[in-house]
Amino acid sequence: MSYSNLSQMNFELSSDQHRFLQKVDGACRSIRSHEEKCYLEERLNDRVVPAFGGIGMLGCPVSKKYGGLGYDMLTYALAIERIGQEGASLRTFFSAHTSIGQLVLQEWGSEMQKKEYLPDTASGKSIMAFALTEPAAGSDPSSMTTTFETKGDHYLLKGKKHWIGNGTFANVMTTYAKDPGSGKISAFIVERDSPGFRTEEMKNKMGLLTVKNAEIYFENCVVPKRNLLGKKGQGLKIAYSALIDGRISVAAGAVGVMEDCLQECIAHSKARKLHGSPLAKKQLIQDHIARIAVNIASSRWLVYRAAAARQKLHDYVEGIRSDDRPSRPGRDTKEYAALRYEADSIAAIAKFHASNCAFEAANSSVQVFGSFGYRKTARVARHFLDTRATIIYEGANEVLKLKIASQVLGDDYKAY
Ligand SMILES: Cc1cc2nc3c(=O)[nH]c(=O)nc-3n(C[C@H](O)[C@H](O)[C@H](O)COP(=O)(O)OP(=O)(O)OC[C@H]3O[C@@H](n4cnc5c(N)ncnc54)[C@H](O)[C@@H]3O)c2cc1C
Repeated sequence: MSYSNLSQMNFELSSDQHRFLQKVDGACRSIRSHEEKCYLEERLNDRVVPAFGGIGMLGCPVSKKYGGLGYDMLTYALAIERIGQEGASLRTFFSAHTSIGQLVLQEWGSEMQKKEYLPDTASGKSIMAFALTEPAAGSDPSSMTTTFETKGDHYLLKGKKHWIGNGTFANVMTTYAKDPGSGKISAFIVERDSPGFRTEEMKNKMGLLTVKNAEIYFENCVVPKRNLLGKKGQGLKIAYSALIDGRISVAAGAVGVMEDCLQECIAHSKARKLHGSPLAKKQLIQDHIARIAVNIASSRWLVYRAAAARQKLHDYVEGIRSDDRPSRPGRDTKEYAALRYEADSIAAIAKFHASNCAFEAANSSVQVFGSFGYRKTARVARHFLDTRATIIYEGANEVLKLKIASQVLGDDYKAY
């Protein structure tokens, strides 16, 4: 991995970006108590779409051309970090809708597909999801058994996905299916009201209780040919590129979680007196607090670097698109491969590090709170339950560790 481009990174925010982030802060505050109520009642927070739709957050990094605010990846990551303070449950809604939802369409969709789907998703009229995982294909999506066949002017999809965030209500999603003949995987845009499409809510989850995850059944589901995303056979390439955005959002959200844990621990440890002095004066409590502070600093830097690398990839793809020469370069250039490799690598490192740190921070925070941290009414308890999932999804951390190791050791040492 190269560090030569560090001097080109600019993390200064304009006054416009500051104003937008203040609006995000306001929206977070406005739904805070309702989010807690919904969490305890294990139901979707119905105020999220109106509150965040009203400030444009539902289309934050979507180009203005398609109804979004057109913000860069760093601004989006900072917004997700702030949302993460309200909990990984709320943040997961945005990751599913935008990071692995809209951005996949924006990056890989045709002009017609983007015009058809993005404006409604940016306004909140339509919500998105990303349906890749199957019961027998989680860490290894290439072993998926969902298939497609061509029938006249449409495709027929057969199979089952599970754990799909926003899946119980999303109006549109990308999904991935295999051609049984060639074994190659393609990506599709599927609408909720397609014939043969059915979802069931997954219940009894450990945490993330305001997110709705679904099992999705494709029972000869009819998908028009115009809804093939990218080219036939590009499905895994598209899915893995979506995961770059997903991982950055998990990492950014993890920083928010840690920030909230820190604030909660500071307030509680200063207020609570034990053995004649505030808990905050005890050295072993300070150890918890110092570790959280260090983990925030290291994770935040990784998130910013990942967002900057992802922005460069985005700018390159936009550059290809705006080039109208007949010989314009495609994504098969060395430059694209290098930019994608850089974004992919740093996003994996950021997600791995920040999600581990956030789980550790939430665990420490529960300890700092003692019994007061053991009820779901405590913010730190909810962070503890929710951050557990962040170590599993968007690439389980063992798989990311192997990916990082093979990037360091070279392809000949791939462990999987
Ligand atoms: C709350 C939640 C939300 C989710 N949301 C979505 C979503 O919106 N869309 C979607 O498509 N999917 C979603 N997922 C699925 C998620 O991406 C998968 O759970 C994840 O990829 C892991 O797959 P798996 O659960 O099948 O575990 P497995 O693949 O069975 O892995 C089990 C364990 O083995 C480890 N492992 C795997 N391979 C190796 C190896 N080679 N060497 C060593 N260890 C290995 C893994 O790290 C893991 O710890 C979600 C999952 C959860 C829990």
